[in-house]
Amino acid sequence: MVKRIIMLGAPGSGKGTWSKVLSDTLSLPHISSGDLFRHELKVESELGEKVRHYLENGLLVPDEVTIALVEKTICEGAGKDGFILDGFPRTIFQAEALERFLDERHLSIDAVIDLVVDEAVLIERILSRRVCTKCGKPYNTTSMVPMVEGVCDDCQGPVIKRSDDTEETLKKRFKAYHDETEPLVSYYRERGKLIEFSNTAPPGEATKNELLGLLGLGQDNG
Ligand SMILES: [Zn+2]
Repeated sequence: MVKRIIMLGAPGSGKGTWSKVLSDTLSLPHISSGDLFRHELKVESELGEKVRHYLENGLLVPDEVTIALVEKTICEGAGKDGFILDGFPRTIFQAEALERFLDERHLSIDAVIDLVVDEAVLIERILSRRVCTKCGKPYNTTSMVPMVEGVCDDCQGPVIKRSDDTEETLKKRFKAYHDETEPLVSYYRERGKLIEFSNTAPPGEATKNELLGLLGLGQDNG
């Protein structure tokens, strides 16, 4: 049974979308590092206070805090019976910590899915993204254009381009990805955990079944 899954992929490769698809299909919680931070702030835990300090000062949450938070969540909290991890591990250091604390509990990662998308396609995809600032509905300038330009179909809120979806911030995000996160692909390949999935089409029945097939979960078991 595949219960502990990590999603890897460059910015805009669809980690969130595919995590949600797998989470619904396999009934496993989708655990993203961003959600973990937000949850911890809400319950006002001791870790949450640390997280708040960094976020409020515009600082990156340090590894030790992130690692402690993930350990707590996937060993004792929502993910103790399985999970889809999205946004963690982000570095080899985090992956080693994850392996260590799972080992201590005689647990291990079952599969690491690398969403493989051509970088030029990703950049185009991100730059064409638009979002409704009122209800959060996603749009883009190619296949999901609102009926009235700049106006949300559902709530009539303003549809805009996110301020961090620019070429300059993208360059920085891709550089950080290549320098820090991409080495995880070889790390997990060496451990026999890596599954490469070419995610060029949006999630649909066919692509979903293809991914489940790669995980060894045929349609009949799903
Ligand atoms: Zn809207």
